Amino acid sequence: MVWDYWLFAGALAWSLTTPALASSQTSAEAAAEESTKDSFPACIERFQKTAEAEGLTSAVVQSSIADLKWSERVIELDRRQPEFTTPFSDYLDRRVTQQRVADGRRLLREHRKLLTRVEQQYGVPAPYLVAFWGLETNYGSFFGKMSVLDSLATLACDKRRSQYFTRELMSALRIIDEGAIEAKNMEGSWAGAMGHVQFMPSVFLRHAVDYDGDRKRDLWNSLPDAMASAANFLSSMGWDDDYRWGREVLLPEGFDYLSAGLKHKRPLSEWQEMGVRQTSGAALPDEPIQAALLVPSGHKGPAFLVYDNFKVIMGWNQSEYYALAVGHMADRIAGAGKLHNPPPGNSPRLNREQVITLQETLKSKGFDVGDVDGIWGPATRRALSQYQDKQGMVPDGFPNQEVLDALGVGT
Ligand code: CA
Repeated sequence: MVWDYWLFAGALAWSLTTPALASSQTSAEAAAEESTKDSFPACIERFQKTAEAEGLTSAVVQSSIADLKWSERVIELDRRQPEFTTPFSDYLDRRVTQQRVADGRRLLREHRKLLTRVEQQYGVPAPYLVAFWGLETNYGSFFGKMSVLDSLATLACDKRRSQYFTRELMSALRIIDEGAIEAKNMEGSWAGAMGHVQFMPSVFLRHAVDYDGDRKRDLWNSLPDAMASAANFLSSMGWDDDYRWGREVLLPEGFDYLSAGLKHKRPLSEWQEMGVRQTSGAALPDEPIQAALLVPSGHKGPAFLVYDNFKVIMGWNQSEYYALAVGHMADRIAGAGKLHNPPPGNSPRLNREQVITLQETLKSKGFDVGDVDGIWGPATRRALSQYQDKQGMVPDGFPNQEVLDALGVGT
């Protein structure tokens, strides 16, 4: 789950959000060393002290710390950089597949009783819970086979995000201490996300619930626990059961694309006045809520109005692509068809060098791209739309061939 996982997995490269943790390095982390097999014993000592200071003193915690093993594989995966940005079309096609939608519909029926109970108690509709489950682990078919404790310890020993992963390691030890699972069975992703819905340990501690009544919060073996925990998390993040996540919409001719972007929220009534309509052509609902407009594939692709629940989904994984995939997946599971206007499949994929060239060129022309870092983020996108606007192109912030040619970014 949890956006941390995707952030560290590098899946945000083409997403529209800024990795929130990327700039949160502390001085303690700056002082830490590169994680190596040789530096690991000293780290274990440090973990022992931290655990004691936090009152984690039981025999099971002590032996779990003593058993920690450094993992070269985890470091390899952590250092991996995606070669190319992922266009929204590819992102969506890979995640919301026909098979996954069909499986989701079947599982929604199969677990109807449980899901209805969870829905009533937490106020999160069942199709969303099934959508998260499908996107995170393909409905429980892959949890990750790495030792969560070893992964977290290896990353906590590393200078890049030592503080964050030390916290997660302590949380994982606390979960073992409470008896939810034995240390040897605590498996997950290489970055420590666990179980049916891939909770990080700190999220588990705060939000996991025992829903089947066996007094264990078990997100690996108990679907009731996993679904209720996901719902509890979303509910505590502020899920509003009166509304959807958002919806695909139609834009009028000559629409001003500079009003797109998560930061530009307006009342639905204003979008209605601007000519935005439901895909059926019907007026937007007459509801007193705010929405933002997203065009992840540019003006030739689908447009979405997103509501407050969209931000709740982004609390799970801070990627606009991810949140759109969850929303669309939930709609499909609930019975909706494919997107009215599917994203064009021929979007350019840019490598890091090309993104840097694009950022440098925009910067040299006086547009504010933020850091020239090779990462496709909101500042780059905004700068690109402003450039497009100046050039008389559709200012959708989308790097189509026309604007790439104009900027001299070879593809
Ligand atoms: Ca349980």
